[in-house]
Amino acid sequence: MSKSSHMKWSWVIIVVFFALSIVNIWFGLFGFVCMGMPMYHALRGRGKIHCSKYCPRGSFLGKFMPSVSMDNTLPKFMRTKGFKNFMLIFMMTMFGISLYHSQFVPVKIAMSIFRLMFASFVVGIIMGVFFKPRSWCQVCPMGHGTGLIRDLKNK
Ligand code: SF4
Repeated sequence: MSKSSHMKWSWVIIVVFFALSIVNIWFGLFGFVCMGMPMYHALRGRGKIHCSKYCPRGSFLGKFMPSVSMDNTLPKFMRTKGFKNFMLIFMMTMFGISLYHSQFVPVKIAMSIFRLMFASFVVGIIMGVFFKPRSWCQVCPMGHGTGLIRDLKNK
């Protein structure tokens, strides 16, 4: 992490996002920004810069998990491209089903995004406890998705 990296403090954003969303679920809509930023950077040709410089979730895991992590390596099957593709498709499917059930009512969409963000956050923390602190980043659908966009743009 470079000295100028926003990763030193950007964890605050995800904590504030969850806190505000719990107080008022409309803030859940800001989850679109969290999901959109990695894609935006990748589509602008900046590759995975979001992961290395800005990501609030990666920042949180990097800051708080090292002190509680068992530091194990992820099982081999979880580090394969097939598993990462599965995670990407699984998350997109879950989000699609959730949006469908929200009947595109804004406040229900906000709840769907919050649920998805929070569930994946909890999974990331659990993975950080049992495996290396930022193990989530090895299977993260957003990180994998931006990597795919970068590879496509490089072709
Ligand atoms: S892999 Fe996912 S959680 Fe990790 S830094 Fe990238 S976008 Fe954030």
